[in-house]
Amino acid sequence: MADSTDSTAGADSTDSADSAPAATPAADQAAVPTDRPVYVVGGGPGGLAAAYALRAQGLRAVVLEKSDRVGASWRRHYDRLHLHTTRRLSALPGLPMPRRFGRWVSRDNVVRYLEKYAEHHELEIVTGVEVSRIERSPDGTGWLLHATGGRELTGAAVVVATGYNHTPRVPDWPGRDTYTGELLHAGEYRNAKPYAGRDVLVVGVGNTGAEIAVDLVEGGASRVRLSVRTAPHIVRRSTAGWAAQYTGVLVRRLPVGLVDRLAKPMARLSVPDLSAHGLPRPDTGLYSRVTAGAIPVQDVGLIDAVRKGQVEIVAAVDGFEDGKVALADGSRVSPDAVVAATGYVRALEDLVGHLDVLDARGKPVVHGARCPANAPGLFFSGYVNPISGMLRELSIDAVKIAKAVAGKRAGTGTGAGQVSRLPG
Ligand SMILES: Cc1cc2nc3c(=O)[nH]c(=O)nc-3n(C[C@H](O)[C@H](O)[C@H](O)COP(=O)(O)OP(=O)(O)OC[C@H]3O[C@@H](n4cnc5c(N)ncnc54)[C@H](O)[C@@H]3O)c2cc1C
Repeated sequence: MADSTDSTAGADSTDSADSAPAATPAADQAAVPTDRPVYVVGGGPGGLAAAYALRAQGLRAVVLEKSDRVGASWRRHYDRLHLHTTRRLSALPGLPMPRRFGRWVSRDNVVRYLEKYAEHHELEIVTGVEVSRIERSPDGTGWLLHATGGRELTGAAVVVATGYNHTPRVPDWPGRDTYTGELLHAGEYRNAKPYAGRDVLVVGVGNTGAEIAVDLVEGGASRVRLSVRTAPHIVRRSTAGWAAQYTGVLVRRLPVGLVDRLAKPMARLSVPDLSAHGLPRPDTGLYSRVTAGAIPVQDVGLIDAVRKGQVEIVAAVDGFEDGKVALADGSRVSPDAVVAATGYVRALEDLVGHLDVLDARGKPVVHGARCPANAPGLFFSGYVNPISGMLRELSIDAVKIAKAVAGKRAGTGTGAGQVSRLPG
């Protein structure tokens, strides 16, 4: 793996590709030039998988990663995190995860795997390079990336894989900025040690909030409250050996309404009614929620902790007042610390917002093998929340993206773009 000082980035502003004549006719704008690399922005699982798949198509792919190592997001996740998708269905293309990692792979082993993946496939990765803006190259045949240190890199195509989980979303709660108590985003939470013997309010019941609440209980917090605005769907990670992910894979192409109806009785059978504890069964269907961006909470101890009263469910947070947290039911609580497990934003606006490729919520208008109609050669991976597991879908998308790029190259009539023919 190269660091930021390594010139193997292969295509800086002096890249010979940049001096190529602007000869691509308008009708061929979707064709991908063969003399430039494909840039992959982000060295997480999505970017690495895309780089491997592009290589497998005979294309040169250069991964640009802003941090100093691959898998930066996974290195930051909390200590107890394990994949809730199975080892087998979480592996990236071209390299299985070792059996010794067990069925539910730990955070550290995910990081090990990503390092190994980059090394095994000898991926071309440049670290310490943050891409700040992507625009059409002046000749209209490729993409110009503005990156750290004034770099200008021109690629034949770009795969944007900067991930979903790097920019914390903390609601603009009234009084938040003047609140003097301890308030942190879940992205900063590592383990329960700093909270032993303390009263903690966790805000938000996605997978992260649910697991942090359980971690705090097990780590000796004196009181753990979990603030919930909308009761989540809760599923068992595995029932009699059958992983919830398998069901997700089976149903993902079925109509949303049908899956909603099928999920209801299954939930009644496998998850106890927690309404007496403040967690009623949700009134909207499971798959409807997924399509709106909320994947079900995989139970890794929340159900038991709620039943035993170790995690108390409280109303949504409305704001902060007089050093207290104001809840939507009118009550006020005074925890020692507040952990906002309130998610992340994709934060793609600076990078590609000017290209008219994002919807009103900042989500790319397409993902996977499809490019926006107005941006041929620009691909997005990892900005959806599939019911069947993100790592699995990232892997499938990587292969489809690579085939799409290779197809466009072949479509130029100038060959399939063998690595050896590319400069740099
Ligand atoms: C707590 C948690 C648990 C999860 N558990 C599972 C699970 O069990 N199973 C599953 O399938 N999925 C899971 N996911 C979802 C998903 O698989 C992961 O978020 C996965 O890391 C997504 O990969 P990615 O490559 O899209 O993004 P990331 O892993 O976030 O990687 C993006 C990379 O891009 C880099 N980057 C960002 N911006 C730039 C830029 N401008 N220029 C250059 N580099 C940049 C970042 O430093 C980072 O290395 C989980 C997510 C979270 C948050």
